[in-house]
Amino acid sequence: TLAASARLQPEAPIYINDYHKGSFIQLNNVNKAYGELVVMNDFTLSMKNDDRLVIIGPSGSGKSSLLRVLMGLEGIQGGTIHFQKQDYIVGDKDKRAKILDSTIQKKIGMVFQHYTLFPHLSILQNLILAPVKVNKMEKRVATEKARALLARFGLESKLHAYPSQLSGGQKQRVAIARALMLEPELMLFDEVTSALDPEMVTEVQSVMMQLAEQKMAMIIVTHDMHFARNIASRVVFCANGRIVEQGHPEALFTHPRETRTREFLEKVL
Ligand code: ADP
Ligand code: MG
Repeated sequence: TLAASARLQPEAPIYINDYHKGSFIQLNNVNKAYGELVVMNDFTLSMKNDDRLVIIGPSGSGKSSLLRVLMGLEGIQGGTIHFQKQDYIVGDKDKRAKILDSTIQKKIGMVFQHYTLFPHLSILQNLILAPVKVNKMEKRVATEKARALLARFGLESKLHAYPSQLSGGQKQRVAIARALMLEPELMLFDEVTSALDPEMVTEVQSVMMQLAEQKMAMIIVTHDMHFARNIASRVVFCANGRIVEQGHPEALFTHPRETRTREFLEKVL
């Protein structure tokens, strides 16, 4: 049986609070609710800089909320978040994001399910806007950087095109390139292929695999379990505002320990 064979497996690594050993990101007892609806319940998670976390869980389990919290787009009501051993975000009763260090926020890039490119700007203008306006990068330097990134993702010919002239897969690759323009140290991906036609999923996933090979720290929310297995260094299964189970993808997918994980995987695999 599944249970018997699970016992024969070596123990999956257990990730506990290793903040003091120099973890990259550490969430401690984070609480977040929308009114009465609790989406993070004493949520504790740590991540190392060479980790690629894949977050899985039922719809409504708070996966997007977690990413938006890390990005500083949402406040938390309790707990703390450290980034590279610095205090980054703390819980605040007034529910707004209380960011202690905005230089940390700039080290995090995010890509969403629905492409968020500016429709009235060319691809090049989309890429250089924030670096030039916010980071005061020289326009010439930003343009060269944009060109290089687009070339790397096979999009150099689209430099002067507008978002409406691109396929969904191309738009998502541009969105990833745009996030990379600011040289993030952590990338967050929220179901970036969910809205794409199947034939475009691979081109976006292969860009993410490229980043993985270059050791980019990433947190990825996806329903694509095959991709999760390929890219994750660790898979985290969340439900009801908590981590139910986490571990190496091979271990978690083939020998889930918890009934809730097993039930979820049976539905999605
Ligand atoms: P997931 O990404 O796992 O599907 P979300 O983080 O998007 O989950 O949402 C978790 C729960 O919080 C859902 O029930 C959702 O309806 C609710 N929710 C999300 N954002 C808001 C918001 N801004 N205001 C109120 N409720 C929200
Ligand atoms: Mg979501």
